[in-house]
Amino acid sequence: MIVYQYKLKCSKVQKTLLDEAIRTCQFLRNLALRYWIDHKGEKFNKYTLTKLTTEESLKANHKFALKLNSKAREQAVLRATNAILRFFKKQGKFPKFKKDVRSFTLTQSGWKLNNEFNHLTLTDKLGIGKMKLVGKRNLHFYTKEQIKQITVIKRADGYYVLFCIDIERKEDVGYTGKEIAVDLGLEYMYTDSEGVHKENPRFFKKSEVTLKRLQKDVSRKKKGSSNRRKAKIKLQRKHLKVQRQREDFVVKTARQLYLSNDTVFLEDLSVTKMIQKNKFKSIRKSISTICWGKFKDWLKRYSEIFNKKLILVNPRNTSQLCSCCGLMVAKNLNVRVHSCSSCGFEAHRDHNAALNILKIGQGMPESATLKGCEKPKESPTSDLKLISSSQVCSVI
Ligand SMILES: [Zn+2]
Repeated sequence: MIVYQYKLKCSKVQKTLLDEAIRTCQFLRNLALRYWIDHKGEKFNKYTLTKLTTEESLKANHKFALKLNSKAREQAVLRATNAILRFFKKQGKFPKFKKDVRSFTLTQSGWKLNNEFNHLTLTDKLGIGKMKLVGKRNLHFYTKEQIKQITVIKRADGYYVLFCIDIERKEDVGYTGKEIAVDLGLEYMYTDSEGVHKENPRFFKKSEVTLKRLQKDVSRKKKGSSNRRKAKIKLQRKHLKVQRQREDFVVKTARQLYLSNDTVFLEDLSVTKMIQKNKFKSIRKSISTICWGKFKDWLKRYSEIFNKKLILVNPRNTSQLCSCCGLMVAKNLNVRVHSCSSCGFEAHRDHNAALNILKIGQGMPESATLKGCEKPKESPTSDLKLISSSQVCSVI
């Protein structure tokens, strides 16, 4: 699946209507969640909550929700269903009522594109109508049947539409016959097994001063005033900019790694757990601002696009062992140089760790058949039912 993003050019009236659609979507999601909480004893499956979106059930008390396209209503309730199912599978926390939903999703009905593919018309009872698409990507190459769903999303700088197209993205960039291991760190974005450090751009740190000032501006303004609203928009825009810079950097770095290598060995870290468990606030913040999780996701994505390999290695003791002789050289986080008393090998701490990752990775059965020539395993069919906010950001 690939996702194309366009900005929507819309009038003031249309913006109000889009907001209304988003609010209705949020209302339906929360309504479904409420229903589930009130009927906990009942059997629950994927279709339990869809009955809430039918005309008969909404007609009595929530007539306004009928203005929203029926597929959009279903998708809104599906968000609640997915949150509940995630909770059952212990993949997520107990679902909460949302007050900041920013998007609504339509499947293959409720919208149409004009012949030139540059205008989108939403055809529900809200009367949003025709809007111009602003973007560089060309939708001409795809048929309407290939566009499985669209999501309209409100961001700090306007309204966007995301087209999810059901095709597999493949690029042939050739093979280099090289393998590399990377050790993620806080001092550098990563250090590879050749000893090259990738500097961490620290966008967040650079923008932190501005963000702090803007945040202060917001809290100084009177609650509910239009000045506060304006200050809030400024703050949100800055956040959006930093987020885009980070995303851009991560995508380019991951792509670059795969252009010059066939196999990437990476530590198998659970970034979310690391953030949750770490005692120090500053380290937690650093990990989340460096976007290790996103970097890993994009490495995985590019390995599939280029038909190359990403091999995850158990990170146990990789920073402590000597990559030359295998002796355990215990060191704290503040010791930046690895120096082995047994064989005399000396290297930057992260370089030594990367070499260990390479060694372990190359010894793994997955790496035995590599050199990039064999086809990767068939990936599970992409779930087009719903795009999460993290995926929304992972647009090409
Ligand atoms: Zn040694």
